Amino acid sequence: MKKHNFNAGPSILPDEVIRKAAEAIVDFNGSGLSLLSISHRTKDFDEVMAEADALFRELLRIPDNYKIFYVGGGASTMFYEVAANFLGKKAGYVNTGVWSKKAIKEAKRYGEVEIVASSDDRDFTYIPKGFAIPEDLDYLHITTNNTIYGTEYHEDIASPVPLIADMSSDILSRPVDVTKYAMIYGGAQKNLAPAGAVFAIIREDMLDKIVRDLPTMVSFRTHVENNSMFNTPPVFPIYVLKETLKWLKSIGGVEEIYRRNVEKAQLLYDEIDRNPLFRGTVAKEDRSLMNICFVMADGYEELAPEFMEFAKARGMVGIKGHRLVGGFRASCYNALPRESVEALVACMQEFAKSHVK
Ligand SMILES: *Cc1c(COP(=O)(O)O)cnc(C)c1O
Repeated sequence: MKKHNFNAGPSILPDEVIRKAAEAIVDFNGSGLSLLSISHRTKDFDEVMAEADALFRELLRIPDNYKIFYVGGGASTMFYEVAANFLGKKAGYVNTGVWSKKAIKEAKRYGEVEIVASSDDRDFTYIPKGFAIPEDLDYLHITTNNTIYGTEYHEDIASPVPLIADMSSDILSRPVDVTKYAMIYGGAQKNLAPAGAVFAIIREDMLDKIVRDLPTMVSFRTHVENNSMFNTPPVFPIYVLKETLKWLKSIGGVEEIYRRNVEKAQLLYDEIDRNPLFRGTVAKEDRSLMNICFVMADGYEELAPEFMEFAKARGMVGIKGHRLVGGFRASCYNALPRESVEALVACMQEFAKSHVK
């Protein structure tokens, strides 16, 4: 049976990217050697890095005064590294859920943290808007897509202080005005690559704003100045990321994937709103295009396990909601084909036929 992969992360990658990755593991560029067993300091791998850089710049329209680097660890590593590099006195954070809270916790080790806005009061079911941003902050940190709760900023906010964004789960899913950000980072395992790499896009002038003497590996300057080659970078995830970027370009780039993502999300949200068995969990205007959360409607709560089995039997994978939210979460990342969303919608309709009271 065909599987429909709604996993939240690590998550679906394009079939052709997986195939290219498998080929490179066996024989990289016809070299007779595996990608897994060559030095990262070779001409062939230099080319991978250069191509990834060029594609990332082209697809996201990254200006020349921004640098891209990759490091191991995860987005969670960046939670403390961002603060270690830039939090001198006080930083601002917007608290929109689990990942924001984790970033806040790490930042507090390095200085004062002001919670500039929060959606904690309504269980993180919306994105705070129109909040004032104090001008005495070293930076403002936001999480653009809240993978667990299913909310997402649909606009790049204007900030009088350097804006730093965790874009782990919506990078390259929609057009972004990079010039609004001082830094964008994320774990690569949601929309770009297998786990093990972090991407970071940083405005060059930020490197002069590093506030303390840091271990070499923690300083962002190290990775920019050495082109991600100070130590051994996560070679395999970077290769796959490059192939994902190539795939994205081949289908029409960010504008086209955004069009597809809007279409997929609309299909599923329409069904959630229309089907009496289900309801959405967050404010409509803040609904994520990537992580679509829903629960059984009032009076139908007890059907949740039965629907889960029903969907599983029809090939749906990874639709169980995060334990903090319950219900269901269908992650509809870039590589998820429209047919998978259609299959889930059909499944919800079929279930409704036999269960609506
Ligand atoms: C998955 C995720 C993280 C955590 O990433 P790791 O690479 O596992 O540390 C952080 N932020 C967001 C928004 C995420 O979706």
